Amino acid sequence: MAKMKGLAMLDFDTIGWVEKEIPKAGPTDAICKPLAISPCTSDVHTVWEKALGARHDLILGHEASAEVVEVGALVKDFKVGDKVIIPAITPDWEAVESQAGYSQHSKGMLNGWKFSNTKDGTFAEYFHVNQADGNMAHLPDGISVEDAAMLSDMVPTGFHGANNAEVEYGDTVVVIGIGPVGLMAVAGSVLRGAGRVFGVGSRTTCREAAKYYGATDLINYRDGDIVEQITEAMNGKPVDKVILAGGGLETFDQAVRLVKPGGIVSNINYLGTGDYIKIPRVEWGLGMGHIRIIGGLMPGGRKNMEYLSRMLLHGRLDVSPLLTHKYNRLEDLEEALLLMKDKPKDLIKPIVSIA
Ligand code: NAD
Ligand code: ZN
Repeated sequence: MAKMKGLAMLDFDTIGWVEKEIPKAGPTDAICKPLAISPCTSDVHTVWEKALGARHDLILGHEASAEVVEVGALVKDFKVGDKVIIPAITPDWEAVESQAGYSQHSKGMLNGWKFSNTKDGTFAEYFHVNQADGNMAHLPDGISVEDAAMLSDMVPTGFHGANNAEVEYGDTVVVIGIGPVGLMAVAGSVLRGAGRVFGVGSRTTCREAAKYYGATDLINYRDGDIVEQITEAMNGKPVDKVILAGGGLETFDQAVRLVKPGGIVSNINYLGTGDYIKIPRVEWGLGMGHIRIIGGLMPGGRKNMEYLSRMLLHGRLDVSPLLTHKYNRLEDLEEALLLMKDKPKDLIKPIVSIA
C-alpha cells in the first residue's frame, strides 16, 4: 500500500509526523491532495488543552483547498484534477439532524466535525472527504488557493456567529475576541447591516484588521473591565448582540451584563477548559430577561462554500488581510501550528500553500 506523511497529534501535548496508508475513496467519497492548508486554534485546544480527550496519531487540520485525486463511483459532480474547497465540517447529509437544520450534529453532537476530531485531517499529503458531492465545492477561477482555505472555517464560523446573533440593520454588536474567527464575525455583522460594532482585543494587528473589517469602536480588555468600558461608550445603554470568539468562560458573564432584554449572546468560541459557565442571575432578568444564549459549530457543506465564494469573487469580502504568515512546504505546517499556539503579536493566521 502506498504511504503518505501527515502532521498528527501523537498524544496530549505532543505533535509529530506520522506515516500512514493513503486513504481510499468509498463510493460517495473523494481523496484530495491539499493546495493550501491552515492550522486552526481548534487544533491547539485539541492538542494542548486536552479538550476533546485522548487522540493517538490522529492527523490534525481541517482547513484546506485541494485537488481531487480519486473519486468514488457514485460521485457525480467532481472528477480527478478538479480544484476544490473543502469545509472544515463535513456532515452526513442523510441524517435526521441534518434534515432538521443541524448538519453539524449529524448522527450526534458535533459529529459533522470529522477532520482532526474523529478521522484524519487535512495536514497530510492526501486526505479523505466523505460525501464528496455534498461536502466539496468547485474552486472558482479568480479565488486563490490561499483565500479559498479561509472559506473552510474562518469565514463560515465568523458568519455563523453573526447569523446566530440574528444581527439586524443598525444593531450594536460587541465581538469579544478578534482573532481570525472574531474578525470574520465583525465582517459578517457589518455585511448583515450592523450600525455600531465594538471589537474587543488587545493585539495591534488584530485591532487594525477589526477596523478594516468595519469595527467602529475598539476596546482593549487589558485596559480594565470591558463591561464598564463598553457601557460608558454606550452612555449607560445595553447593546443588542454579543458574539463570543475569544477569551474564557468569563465572557458569558460579561456578555449577559452587556446585552439588552431580548438580546442575543452568540458563542462560536471552542471552550477548551472549565466545567460550568456562570450566568449572572440579576442581569439575566432574574431568569426572565429574554436574553438568549446560543453556541454553535458552523454547519459546513457545499452550499456554504459556494455561496461564500461569491462574496469573495464579487468583492464583498477580502480575506487576504487575515493571512499574515505564509509558508510553502508541507513540512512548514509544524511551525505554522506552533505559531497558532503561541500567537505572536503580528499573527492573525498562517497559511501553507503547496500548490
Ligand atoms: P484566536 O486565539 O486567534 O483569537 C482569539 C483572541 O481572543 C486572541 O487574540 C486572544 O488573545 C483574545 N482574547 C483572549 N482573552 C480575551 C478576552 N478576555 N477578551 C477578548 N479577547 C480575548 O482564535 P481564532 O482562531 O480566532 O478562534 C476563535 C475561537 O473559535 C477558538 O476557540 C476556536 O477554537 C474557535 N473555533 C470555533 C469554530 C466553530 O465552528 N464554532 C470553528 C473554528 C474555530
Ligand atoms: Zn477550526
